Amino acid sequence: MIPARGYAAQDAKSPLAPFHFERREPGPDDVQFDVQYCGICHSDLHQARDEWGGSIFPMVPGHEIIGRVTRVGANVTKFKVGDSVGVGCMVDTCRACKACKQGLEQYCERGATYTYNSRERESQQPTQGGYSNVLVVDQAYVLRVPENLDPAAAAPLLCAGITTYSPLKHWNVKAGQRVGVVGLGGLGHMGVKFARAFGAHVIVFSHTDKKKQDALRLGAHEVVVSSNEAEMKAQEGTLDFVLDTVSAPHDINAYLRLLRIDGSLVLVGVPEKPLPVQPFSLIGQRRSFSGSSIGGIQETQDMLDFCGQHGVVSDVEVIPIQQVNDAYTRLLKGDVKYRFVIDMKSLK
Ligand code: NAP
Ligand code: ZN
Ligand code: ZN
Repeated sequence: MIPARGYAAQDAKSPLAPFHFERREPGPDDVQFDVQYCGICHSDLHQARDEWGGSIFPMVPGHEIIGRVTRVGANVTKFKVGDSVGVGCMVDTCRACKACKQGLEQYCERGATYTYNSRERESQQPTQGGYSNVLVVDQAYVLRVPENLDPAAAAPLLCAGITTYSPLKHWNVKAGQRVGVVGLGGLGHMGVKFARAFGAHVIVFSHTDKKKQDALRLGAHEVVVSSNEAEMKAQEGTLDFVLDTVSAPHDINAYLRLLRIDGSLVLVGVPEKPLPVQPFSLIGQRRSFSGSSIGGIQETQDMLDFCGQHGVVSDVEVIPIQQVNDAYTRLLKGDVKYRFVIDMKSLK
């Protein structure tokens, strides 16, 4: 076994604290790498506090992971020692179901093995995430990170990036469309960058008036403060597509009403409570309300390659791991510009 160190939540109520554990000895298909950076996703906080139920403790969160390969198994052809690699939300799936065969591993019919708060398929050992010094992952779930990208700023691409890129691609967002992004946090600011890169007219909907300048700098054409009724009213029935990244309960009908005929609202945020839908919000204009989960492995690689070609990365605030609990507090207050990333050199 490989000795590993990280920060873990021991239960839903305690702050994260230093934790020693073991990783599996790399098998023939495994890649071992030293973690350089790991982003802090709001999903880490939801799960560390057991807001979705069923959390496995102790839990080392983290699924926006970038590092350098230190060891490869005998069958590994995709990577060599020294390569810059990334791991996102999944470390394994069944590889045999229809979804897996279509490159939609995130919808594996037998359930994906997530990077943490999940169990390895054979051993049933709990998986542990990237707030740690070392990872061992099957090469099929490891991504190549373009060398021209700053690794700290690229880490959030592994979740916030692919989670926003995938629905924009699937719903074919393109030039000439009006696209709304609700919530300007980690996911939202990547949604703005991608929608803009795909040529859309981008409108940010924020519940605070404090992010207007940032939203415009990040690529938005317009910014609407969602508590301003006149501004909301002016957008009603005008959008082709809305990406909702909000982490807390909110009135979904206010955003469905923004769509024009046949428009789609796609939910990627995961508030811990149901979001009641008023039937007329959908029926009136034949609107669609859908959801989307991260993205497949090949699509994640395509997204990273796109980012390498276009210089797309996250706006990050790099912190030492000792500040992870403060970062969670600030994340809950919306006080982040626009992703916290842990520098793993700080993990002594
Ligand atoms: P984040 O950085 O905290 O951003 C969430 C944003 O939501 C905030 O910046 C804020 O934007 C808005 N917001 C927060 N509280 C609000 C409230 N009470 N009312 C209205 N708006 C509020 O979080 P994140 O990391 O981007 O994650 C967002 C959500 O996506 C989380 O629920 C996370 O679990 C989920 N997620 C889903 C997937 C997936 O595969 N579907 C993947 C990753 C994450 P404004 O201040 O601009 O309003
Ligand atoms: Zn995430
Ligand atoms: Zn499968």
